[in-house]
Amino acid sequence: MASYDFASTRLFVESDLGPGAEVTLDAAQANYLRNVLRMGEGAGLLAFNGRDGEWRARIAEAAKKRVTLAIESLARPQPAPGRLRYLFAPLKHARLDYMAQKAVEMGASRLSPVLTRRTQAARVNTERMRANTVEAAEQCGVLEVPAVDEPAPLGAVLAGWPADEPLVFCDEDADIADPIEALRPLKGRPLALLIGPEGGFDPAERDALLRLRGVVRISLGPRILRADTAAVAALAALQAAAGDWAP
Ligand code: SAH
Repeated sequence: MASYDFASTRLFVESDLGPGAEVTLDAAQANYLRNVLRMGEGAGLLAFNGRDGEWRARIAEAAKKRVTLAIESLARPQPAPGRLRYLFAPLKHARLDYMAQKAVEMGASRLSPVLTRRTQAARVNTERMRANTVEAAEQCGVLEVPAVDEPAPLGAVLAGWPADEPLVFCDEDADIADPIEALRPLKGRPLALLIGPEGGFDPAERDALLRLRGVVRISLGPRILRADTAAVAALAALQAAAGDWAP
């Protein structure tokens, strides 16, 4: 991996970034830099917004009520947008936070909560999910902050699925077969992965999924994995076989 500056603090901002730009931080960010990280005027950090790449920045003003950054030079260009949509039945609270963060680290470019018959979480706090994706991007040097969709019923997602797009269906009922071999033909295609709820998919859902033209049904081995474990395992297999883990 190219030499990467893990030492510097990375901060996600909404503002446009470019040479000479000045960014005024919101109260939470100002407090974090000043009072938590005890950074003062002149301190250096990295700023990114998910669109313009990562920029070297310096604290220009660190007043009690106002912290501004002076944007200096480009540290890393914005990568080409990813094409890995991660669809999942939302879990509850901490495990959902975990899933959102791991999806970012594993390179998901879009998070799509999908409501299935056995989904446990009645409602999904997408603001909280987005905050988790930003935090994961800041911590792991990810420059593309994935889009977070509003939850949608599985039936609606499948009804609107583009006929020529693959959907990797992680089916706990699938016969054991080499997932890497099943996923390799997807190299170069827009990728999408579906993980079910703790209670698994119900028969009607499985039938609808298997009728989808672009469906690629895979097994994740002889053991039943918990949904958050299955998510990381499946994303790893997909990235290794057909995604950006291979040049
Ligand atoms: N009904 C089981 C399975 C749920 S596991 C149970 O209640 O424990 C949650 C989800 O993780 C599944 O819907 C599936 O998408 C994925 N998953 C878990 N283990 C898997 C496996 N061995 N093969 C394929 N997918 C798996």
